Amino acid sequence: MSLLIVRLVVFVLLFWAGFRIWQFWQAKQQLPGDKYSSQTKGDSEMMVRCEKCKVHLPKGSAIKAGEQYFCCPEHQAFFKKE
Ligand SMILES: [Zn+2]
Repeated sequence: MSLLIVRLVVFVLLFWAGFRIWQFWQAKQQLPGDKYSSQTKGDSEMMVRCEKCKVHLPKGSAIKAGEQYFCCPEHQAFFKKE
C-alpha cells in the first residue's frame, strides 16, 4: 500500500516538474518574440519622407540613398535624373 502512495507521489512530482518545465519553455518562447516585435515597432515609428513625392513612410520600408529616402525605386531613379 505504501509503495502505491510512493508511486503516486513520484507520479505527481514528475507531472508537476513537467508542467513547470513546460511553463518555463513557454515563457522562454515568448521572450524573443516580444523583443523582436518591440524592435520592429521602434523601426516603424521612425518615419522618413520621400524626397520626390514628400510622402511619409516607415524607415524600414523606405529606400535609402545617401542621406535621402524614397518610397519606391522609381522615385529614387527620378530624383537622380533631376
Ligand atoms: Zn515617392
